[in-house]
Parts: sequence; structure tokens; C-alpha cells
Amino acid sequence: MPQIGTTIFSVMSALATRHGAVNLGQGFPDFDCDPALIDAVTRAMRAGHNQYPPMTGWAPLRQAIATKIENLYGYRYDADSEITVTAGATQAILTATLALVHPGDEVIVIEPAYDSYAPAIQLAGGKAVFVRMERTNNTDTGFIIPWDSVRAAVTPRTRMLVINSPNNPTGMAMVENDLKELEDLIVGNNLYLLSDEVYEHMLFDRRRHESASRYPVLAERSIVISSFGKTFHVTGWKVGHVAAPAALTAEFRKVHQFNVFTVNTPMQAALADYLTDPSPYLTLADFYQRKRDFFRKGMADTRFDLLPCDGTYFQLAGFNAVREDLSDTAFCEWLTREKGVAAIPLSAFYDGPCDAKLIRFCFAKKETTLTNALDRLTTL
Ligand code: PMP
Ligand code: GLN
Repeated sequence: MPQIGTTIFSVMSALATRHGAVNLGQGFPDFDCDPALIDAVTRAMRAGHNQYPPMTGWAPLRQAIATKIENLYGYRYDADSEITVTAGATQAILTATLALVHPGDEVIVIEPAYDSYAPAIQLAGGKAVFVRMERTNNTDTGFIIPWDSVRAAVTPRTRMLVINSPNNPTGMAMVENDLKELEDLIVGNNLYLLSDEVYEHMLFDRRRHESASRYPVLAERSIVISSFGKTFHVTGWKVGHVAAPAALTAEFRKVHQFNVFTVNTPMQAALADYLTDPSPYLTLADFYQRKRDFFRKGMADTRFDLLPCDGTYFQLAGFNAVREDLSDTAFCEWLTREKGVAAIPLSAFYDGPCDAKLIRFCFAKKETTLTNALDRLTTL
């Protein structure tokens, strides 16, 4: 992959470390997970759960995931034949893409897009076809998916569509009408949907998460991906999962068994225990809404322009009033080096040129960290 460099998240974290900057770039919490979860891992290790689990994932965990999805979205996946535990969402995305995309197939990717989708499609021999979200003038909506353009991008070679809602980096969350459009498009053209739902529990102002699993006809053609890293503040554990109909899961597992085989046992056993109580994920939206509101209130005293944020732990901000002369990448480097706050340039989420002059801050941080960053940003 000669054109591929190092992912922007590693680049910006390294720059933040080098300059001692407050790192609001790469998306990860700077606070710890629930100690009960760590105790559960210790218990699992002491109980001797230290060898390979089944290739498909620890059975009680697959059961717990199936139950959780059914309770939240009303669709029952079979825990044995339709749920697979993965090494985070990243491996799930790559594995699903390798399993479903043939050389020459086209895959529609909505931009701005998480940076692993297009390389995964390339590794499968497919071609990513990009459709850009549009920015509305409405200050309440921010980015929207232009469904006419998505429909226009479908060709006889189109195999799959990749979607991410709540969306990293825009904070956009699809609404019911988006799902209707999506269902028509996928079902009407016999496509598959890769639905990246890693931020499924971070929706604000009482919005409901529009999972592909809520829509049975769509779910029949979807691979739905999520990640415990986001939900339980353990991004370093790299445990995620895939829910897909049995026929798609069978293909997924053919690839999964040869690119990771399985995922560490004690974390899976601990997560199975921890999932018996739904309150940690049911209260996550309120938890992050408080962080969003705290950060946005502080940012209101700066010269940045804030876009709406319906979900995720990311906030997009315009910086034209601060340094109109810089590109987003140059601005992020300058901000990290000179002002001690790291962020991610929006252009990193586009394949082609993007001159939107927007940067992404991650607010999954302790209040002291956010205050420290805000103190620096208000001086600009
Ligand atoms: N998809 C999106 C949209 C993400 O933001 C992330 C987070 N890093 C991932 C996938 C990957 O998740 P994981 O860390 O579980 O591999
Ligand atoms: N998803 C996280 C982000 O968008 C980072 C993941 C990574 O570092 N690969 O910042």
C-alpha cells in the first residue's frame, strides 16, 4: 500500500506527547473504567480462563450480546450462528470487508469517514466510491447524508455500503428517515450494509440510536459492528463484536479464523459478567452529554465556531477566526506545538482534498483535562 502513511491518530498522539500538549486528538478516555470490570477480569484469570476461547467468541458473552441487542433494538440474533467477538471494531471492519468484497467490487463510503474503511476495501481488491456528507446552513443539523447522491453512486458493480452513525468525526446521528432511505437503497439494489455502530450508546438530548438491527429487512443484509472499547472506557482492550445473519456470519468467520482466530479469554469472560447489568451502557449517553455540554460551554468563550454534536465523543470546530491562513492539518500542528492542545484535522477523514477548515476535538476526558485545554484555547 505505497500511498498509505501512518494513521493520523498515531501521528497526532505522538506530536502531543512530544510537545507535552493536552491530547484532545485521538479518541480515547483519559479516565479509568469501572473497577468492577477490572475485578471481573482478575476473577476470570484466577478461575483459569486463560486458554483459547472458541473461535467465534466466549459463549456467555455471545449470549449476552444477543440479549442486549434484542432488548435495545428488538431483533434477535442467534448467539451461536450470528454473533462473533472480534479484536475491536477495526478487525471487524477489515474482516467483514475481506469476507464480502471481491476484486473489482465497488463499495460506497460516506465521507467524512473513519480512516480504516478505504484501506480495508483496497486490501480486498475493491474500489471505494466516496460520497460526501453535506453541510447544511441550519445550525441545528450540521452534516447530513445526501441520499440522492448516494443513490446516484450505485452501479452494477456496487457490492456494499459503509455507514457510521453516530458519526466520527461529525457527531451526526442518523434519524428514522435516513434508515428508510438506507433500507430502500440496500434492499432495492441487493447490496450489503456494513454498519459501524461503535458509538451506539452515545446519543444526546434523548435521541434514539437508529441501529440497522432495528429494521428487520435491513438487518437481513447488514453486518452490524460495535466495540466495548467505547462503551466501557476500555479502548486498549480491543474487544468488539459483529452481528450478522447466519449466512453472512459464516463467511465472516472463514476470514476471522485466519486473521485473528479468537480474542483474549479473560476480557471476554469479564465482559459477559459485566453485561448482566445494563445500567453502565444505559447511563453512558447522559455521562457524555454532560462532558459535551461542559466542553461546548467552555468553547463558547473562544473564537472557535462549534458545529452541532448529536452523538459520539467528538466535537467539530471551525478555526477561521483564529488562523484563517492555515489548512486544517497545519492548524492542528500549530495548535499542538505552539498552544499545547492536540486535535485532529477533518481532512484526514477524506480521500480527496478537503478545505473545510474544521478540526475535531475529543471530549472523552476528565473535567480537569478539558479545563486545562479550554484555558489554553481561550487565549487564542
Ligand atoms: N469505527 C469508528 C467510527 C471509530 O471511531 C473507531 C474508534 N477508534 C473504530 C471503528 C475502531 O474501534 P476499535 O478501537 O474497537 O477497533
Ligand atoms: N477511533 C479513534 C479516533 O477516531 C482512534 C482509533 C485509532 O487510534 N485507531 O480517534
